[in-house]
Amino acid sequence: KYTGPSFETMSEIRKTRLNPALTTYYGSPLAFHQGHMQWLFDINGRRYLDMFGGICTVSVGHSHPKITEALHKQIQKLTHVSNVYFHPKIHEYAVRLTEKFPGNLKVVYFVNSGSEANDLAVLMARSYTKNFDIVTLKNAYHGMTYQTMGLTSNTGYKYKVPQAPGIHNIMNPDVYRGLWGGTHCRDSPIQTSRSCSCSVENCEAKDKYLEQLRDIFKYNVRPGGLAAFFAESIQGVGGTVQFPKGYIKGAYKLVKEHGGLFISDEVQTGFGRTGEHFWGFEMHGIEPDIVTMAKSMGNGFPLAAVVTRPEIAQALASSMHFNTFGGNPLACTVGITVLDIIEEEQLQKNCLEIGTYFLKEMEKLKAKHSIIGDVRGKGLMLGVELVEDDKNASPLDSKRFMKMWEKTRDMGLIIGKGGLFGNVIRIKPPIV
Ligand code: PMP
Repeated sequence: KYTGPSFETMSEIRKTRLNPALTTYYGSPLAFHQGHMQWLFDINGRRYLDMFGGICTVSVGHSHPKITEALHKQIQKLTHVSNVYFHPKIHEYAVRLTEKFPGNLKVVYFVNSGSEANDLAVLMARSYTKNFDIVTLKNAYHGMTYQTMGLTSNTGYKYKVPQAPGIHNIMNPDVYRGLWGGTHCRDSPIQTSRSCSCSVENCEAKDKYLEQLRDIFKYNVRPGGLAAFFAESIQGVGGTVQFPKGYIKGAYKLVKEHGGLFISDEVQTGFGRTGEHFWGFEMHGIEPDIVTMAKSMGNGFPLAAVVTRPEIAQALASSMHFNTFGGNPLACTVGITVLDIIEEEQLQKNCLEIGTYFLKEMEKLKAKHSIIGDVRGKGLMLGVELVEDDKNASPLDSKRFMKMWEKTRDMGLIIGKGGLFGNVIRIKPPIV
């Protein structure tokens, strides 16, 4: 039974004592006080099916008993000791986590949030390449610190302050909403409705989008002067946006030709969520130079990381690089247990099976209802784009979207919302 402050008291505290820019979902916000696996319970005792997992964060389930037990044991033994000393957990976790990566991606830096991880990745790329310029995609979300707000390309998350210098946001290769379509779905169970008609081997849309990247070297960045290219494997906040098949591979090649590093932001797509692979970049057939991760990594515990190759890490070794909480014994205990659970409960396979089934069923609904413009994603990283008219993809009027959204809440279903026009249903549940 809930015994905490009333809804009215919390509302008052929100209004007067908390960040006023914090948006709340729904007309009358929900107040949760308990969770169990895929379920959330509000303070009135009502149960909800959580299809958003705290924005793609609760991966192996709310209050998973195995994590609770491991954390309890660890907190009784040792909570914190600075990394200037040895403690077993960070060493154990460093090995377990880097085992999940291909090639020489074997050095890990533990931090506390996705923004912090991307910030560090910028520093790393600039220090290694001795170049300054960074390229990111429009509609991307990479964080909210000074530097990462610059990487993020969505005015909803920008303030009227000078944005970090040296960052170029290029045209987004969005298969559904972009100028040139694309063929990302050719090898997946569904076809996107506005895909172009060319073949996977020779996708013209991919080539046109890559031309945009080439233009950067003509007009903005000196040839050979790139520090890094950043991309999410599937855009998350941007509305589960996928790229034309072959685009990321082509971008990787161009980035290499211009002396830059390829940085994969796996904050949403990592840890098995996309089903076929453990990391999203694997679906694109590339091996990035730097990978950033957070969210699912700690199942809700503040835990994030940057993984790279030893020679890149070495470029940061000229000064002291230090992080007080990064890799503390509690965070590492949670991280190790998350990996154990994903393996023991075969959750990556679960993402593939349930996600593919979900996509196929949603595709059937799309055929029946013109309000569904696009159904997309991979595994349990899914998006449903709602439109007024599926011929021209005009975004669903926000009042209609909100009405639908409130209804799902009344039905006991928690789903996310996103995309540039706020008209995409985001489905990223705990992967149990
Ligand atoms: N990258 C991506 C892809 C994200 O979705 C987010 C968070 N929405 C971040 C980075 C930033 O993570 P954090 O909020 O932990 O700073």
